[in-house]
Amino acid sequence: MTKSMDGVVFDIKRYAVHDGPGIRTTIFLKGCPLRCLWCHNPESFSPEIETYARINRLGEKEVSENVFIGKDYTSEHLLRELAKDQLFFDESGGGVTFSGGEPLLQIDFLEDMLRACKRMDFHTVVDTSGFAPLENVKRIMEFTDLFLFDVKHMNQAEHMKLTGVSNKQILDNLKFLLQNEKALIIRYPMIPGYNDSQENISQLLDFLKGFSWKPEINILPYHRIGRDKYNRFNKENRMPAISSLKPEDTDWVKDQFVQAGYKVCIGG
Ligand code: SF4
Repeated sequence: MTKSMDGVVFDIKRYAVHDGPGIRTTIFLKGCPLRCLWCHNPESFSPEIETYARINRLGEKEVSENVFIGKDYTSEHLLRELAKDQLFFDESGGGVTFSGGEPLLQIDFLEDMLRACKRMDFHTVVDTSGFAPLENVKRIMEFTDLFLFDVKHMNQAEHMKLTGVSNKQILDNLKFLLQNEKALIIRYPMIPGYNDSQENISQLLDFLKGFSWKPEINILPYHRIGRDKYNRFNKENRMPAISSLKPEDTDWVKDQFVQAGYKVCIGG
């Protein structure tokens, strides 16, 4: 590593098994330009380090403590943390996943970390909303073994309503990765009543039919886990209290992708 970069990380999850192959360490980079209604990580929205008041109970007394959300890391420091997990990566065929927030928002830090991970021979995954300039996707492509790429809605106006941003750049980036036959898994968060219309599923299938490269599809059934974070971190929760989906509720979507020749998994 030449000059060490700085990045803001809001969580590090060790022994992760749903963020790519094998046992992984997932680095959650802070900051996201989207505001998905159903987001489970509202503490990731701001790119800045924030604080919140945590109430601790000491006997009969309640004591408020200021807790930081996010921490500055240099790429050297973070790499040293990752090196501690090398044995698990080697034994399980795992590696490092960069998630968020939107990891491409901290593109200099992300690129630096990915390059460093490849020098260590770690398998690398980037879990992205796809909302980033194409230039940024190109910068990390060579050092990213696998993309986990969200597709939330195919209709531009609906996408805007649900996430606050257009899907144009996202679909352009996805097209670029598919045309270049990059290893990628499409993740479709299935939110009942919001993006689970037959029309949306058909549009995604039509879009994918335009490419000979067939990515794996992961359907992520909506769940309510994480809703309490909005209160805890003092963020506005705009998502109505709808029920979680059971894995079998997604079967009718899974069947259509399987029939079209895609490998499909429920969950990540
Ligand atoms: S892209 Fe991910 S982190 Fe960002 S708001 Fe949407 S669900 Fe949350």
